Amino acid sequence: MKLPAYASEILIGDEWRRASGGGVLPLENPSTGQVIGEIAAAQAADIDAAVTAAQTALDGSWGNLSAVERGRLLTRMGLAVADQVESLAELEALDVGKPLKQARADALALARYLEFYGGAADKFHGETIPYLNDYTVYTLREPHGVTGHIIPWNYPMQIIGRSVVAALAAGNAAVLKPAEEACLTALAFARIAMDVGLPAGALNVAPGTGLDAGAALAAHPGVNHVSFTGSTEVGIAVQSAAARNTVPVTLELGGKSPQLVFDDADLDAALPYLVNAGVQNAGQTCSAGSRILVQKGVYDQLVSLLAKRFGALRVGPAVDDRDVGPLISAKQKALVSDFIDRGKESGLEIAAEGTIVENAPADGHYVRPTLFVGVDSDHELAQQEIFGPVVVVIPFVDEEEAVRIANGAQYGLVAGVWTRDGARQMRLARRLRAGQVFINNYGAGGGVELPFGGVGRSGHGREKGFEALYSFTTLKTVAALHAKGSN
Ligand code: NAD
Repeated sequence: MKLPAYASEILIGDEWRRASGGGVLPLENPSTGQVIGEIAAAQAADIDAAVTAAQTALDGSWGNLSAVERGRLLTRMGLAVADQVESLAELEALDVGKPLKQARADALALARYLEFYGGAADKFHGETIPYLNDYTVYTLREPHGVTGHIIPWNYPMQIIGRSVVAALAAGNAAVLKPAEEACLTALAFARIAMDVGLPAGALNVAPGTGLDAGAALAAHPGVNHVSFTGSTEVGIAVQSAAARNTVPVTLELGGKSPQLVFDDADLDAALPYLVNAGVQNAGQTCSAGSRILVQKGVYDQLVSLLAKRFGALRVGPAVDDRDVGPLISAKQKALVSDFIDRGKESGLEIAAEGTIVENAPADGHYVRPTLFVGVDSDHELAQQEIFGPVVVVIPFVDEEEAVRIANGAQYGLVAGVWTRDGARQMRLARRLRAGQVFINNYGAGGGVELPFGGVGRSGHGREKGFEALYSFTTLKTVAALHAKGSN
């Protein structure tokens, strides 16, 4: 596949250009391990220029648009993205190593975000508040101004949809710092936006390293809100930097999400969700359902069903569209392999492993999906985010123990509950410490309409759905005294 010309550029205002100083980073195909090009390495000076361009857009053509005009633009961008789903999916498969059908789903999700927020832009408003006689009090929902978006490599298109698109719908101008491991679809999206007529500077894209471009964006005094998606450690650094400018931050961080399977669950219905939630995007999913908690009565039966399905998983290059693709990098492969090795060394039982297909390139970053069973809830494999196709099965006796184990990790992003007992469904929805609870299904984040975010080390703030528009606006209260003679 030929790389687009803009692959090694940044977008500032309406200008595609090289990073200042001409710095570049290697662009690797995770399916082959080969370097296939280069991307720009934006520096602090580029971030500064991007923030200025965003502010200029707010002061001019972008800021002057009405909500309905903003919505129409986003809607048109959605149609353009929908027209280019195949080329976006191919780009993502190349860059992230994501099997084509999963990459296609991401491109369709981006189109859907644009449709959703395009429709929402002119339906989001303040309210009037009853106050003292002779007063009219109302609230205005106003954009923060310039929003900074620092995103990871695992779901670039989906995260752009829930973060950048929602910010634009609310009237902000965005500076996007995609991950150095995968930035091609972020640039392709910007290209589409410009072609459709998004005013210059409303969206600026500057790929580069976290330490250079990311840190500069988080700390920039001209940025009025920061949306960060990534690891907990970096999230803390980003929030600390933004705190110096007293600006709000949304943190969408890691997870160790549990799925609780009770004796009365419909196991056949649960099975595909249980496996897919663990291995989708090779397990490199913040909301991966990577801990499966199983009640004793169905434990043996479910473990054997899971093992059969896990053992049938095939791992291969993204273009082959197998069940699982490669991991993003050699570093990630080493990290995940170390977890698996330590699990084995500590005597954990492996119930099944998937297979790497024979034609998988030797230098691709492939790891066999691995199902560990009978895992103690305190084991590091049951506590730490592995970010690879590794799932642990933990037995439990009753509801109390299940809740204790489920809430016993530091993260709190998503939880799944599998039971036919309606009262238990309601109880657990309340008791589980998570930003989303799925009952008899599991969405790994769910549809674009569903507010998403975490508690604890999974972060704070919500994106997706209408709720994101609250995060991307600030509230102003207007109190007008209109008693006679008050002028
Ligand atoms: P990461 O934190 O290393 O990188 C994320 C982004 O932050 C990248 O763009 C990176 O360049 C940038 N960055 C790195 N150091 C920085 C710094 N000092 N200052 C500013 N920016 C910096 O995360 P990763 O390894 O790329 O992604 C995996 C993590 O992301 C996992 O923990 C995963 O759970 C999490 N994640 C969370 C969600 C969610 O919605 N909750 C979604 C996807 C991924």
